[in-house]
Amino acid sequence: MSEKFDVIVIGAGPAGYVAAIRAAQLGLKTACVDAFVGKDGKQALGGTCLNVGCIPSKALLDSSKQYYNLAHNLPAHGISVENAKVDMSTFIGRKDKIVKQFTGGIGQLFKANKVTPFFGKGKLLKGNTVEITGSDGSKQTISATNVILASGSVPIELPFAKFDGKYILDNAGALDINEVPKRLGVIGAGVIGLELGSVWNRLGSQVTILEALPDFLSVADQDIAKVAKKEFEKQNLTIKLGAKLTKAEIKKNEVVLSYEDKDGAHDLTVDKLLVAVGRRAYTEGLLAADTGVQLDERGRIKVDEHNHTGVDGVWAVGDAVRGPMLAHKGSEEGVAVAEWIAGKAGHINLDTVPWVIYTEPEIAWAGKTEKELKELGIPYKVGSFPFAAIGRAVAMNEAIGQVKVIAHAETDRLLGVHMVGPGVSELIAEAVVAMEFKGSAEDLARIVHAHPTLSEAVHEAALSVDKRAIHKGN
Ligand code: FAD
Ligand code: NAD
Repeated sequence: MSEKFDVIVIGAGPAGYVAAIRAAQLGLKTACVDAFVGKDGKQALGGTCLNVGCIPSKALLDSSKQYYNLAHNLPAHGISVENAKVDMSTFIGRKDKIVKQFTGGIGQLFKANKVTPFFGKGKLLKGNTVEITGSDGSKQTISATNVILASGSVPIELPFAKFDGKYILDNAGALDINEVPKRLGVIGAGVIGLELGSVWNRLGSQVTILEALPDFLSVADQDIAKVAKKEFEKQNLTIKLGAKLTKAEIKKNEVVLSYEDKDGAHDLTVDKLLVAVGRRAYTEGLLAADTGVQLDERGRIKVDEHNHTGVDGVWAVGDAVRGPMLAHKGSEEGVAVAEWIAGKAGHINLDTVPWVIYTEPEIAWAGKTEKELKELGIPYKVGSFPFAAIGRAVAMNEAIGQVKVIAHAETDRLLGVHMVGPGVSELIAEAVVAMEFKGSAEDLARIVHAHPTLSEAVHEAALSVDKRAIHKGN
């Protein structure tokens, strides 16, 4: 007889482990099955985000920023440091330590909340039974009234530039380079390409990013993307738009790339290549043929607005389903599903999920871009405010970028808030709260913001929607 649970979660990434903890908090007997193997060959909870995504990338971004600032920011403050060096084993080791701290922390949280972890590959069988195959090939089955699928995503591989872990790298490989490559090629000027490209660029690598689309960061508001591109280029990141890779060959410890753009065919030789052209839902070996769970045209698990698959007691959350592939989106879906299972009023609003890109300057937004509003035919008005006129940003010597607020032309309701500049990863939270409460630009404009803070840029941009910003012409 297989052990019976109220809830089994397959996948312990930020969607799955959060779902499991919330379900256990609600008194449900919960198991979580995960197959991720960490750098040390042992089971590591936390999925992509904690092991090879959000957390390690932010650790390296922060370390590389400290180093970059020594030469590029501190001199303006009258501080100079000579012969600064990066010790690569400390640089990578610090990141590994942080990863271990957080992945180990999930195990402790499971213990504290009485979630039973299982290590192995989980496969959903008909009737809400899960078969777990251990790393030694051993099999066991467990069953539950509800199963939550949270199998996450994996990087997309290009057929002519296959990952080899040495020269052609995915995100995991690019987080673990032990020596700064003299030349780094990056395919895809998306979130990973820009964040990890920035890490190695700051350490002195000559980074060239090839992006297939003609527009830079086409998912972001184009006013924001324009400022960001200009700043990245000042940092010596080379970004080639409309560039389509046709071949990547490893020759004598180098990667020779062939690509085409509007000017014709080109070659580029680099020491390492990061391929970051997006991620796809991971469902290999997850579903027995007769479960009834459907995949959509992009291979994602089909769900309704309550993350239900349509099969009795089977739910799916996180990167494996529609919506942005972001950790916080998956976690909130996990909480909502656990609450729905427990008969409570779960809540998730995909319209206000914030995006943050942790480059310098940072980029953040929530809601719709101007382009999206035009396509939807929604009338809008815009206010913006530059960090150059914000005292705190100038005092920090980081007076770059702007905040842009978009409100409905008639009702003034906030439709989108877009930012590029210092600390915007934190500032975006105010916009999300205001939008979640269906606030207006006038609401933001009438709220007292502390002086001198970066948040005054949000205040002034909201005032500027009604042409009454104080510290700029309107
Ligand atoms: P995952 O984190 O992918 O976890 C899925 C887990 O399920 C894995 O452990 C996998 O091994 C396991 N699994 C899959 N199938 C099975 C099975 N059949 N049996 C058992 N286990 C299984 N997002 C942000 O919001 N902010 C960031 O700053 C950010 N930075 C990122 C940086 C990088 C380099 C990358 C690659 C991603 C980043 N992301 C970021 C995206 C974020 O990592 C994902 O959105 C998030 O991890 C998705 O969570 P998830 O739980 O759905 O899936
Ligand atoms: P992405 O979708 O952000 O960017 C991929 C880029 O590659 C796009 O600009 C696309 O046009 C381009 N591209 C696609 N095919 C190409 C080709 N053949 N040649 C050249 N360019 C090509 O994907 P990503 O950077 O791989 O990241 C995957 C996802 O992980 C992100 O979309 C995001 O959901 C998540 N992530 C989030 C964060 C964060 O929140 N800060 C950080 C990293 C990753």
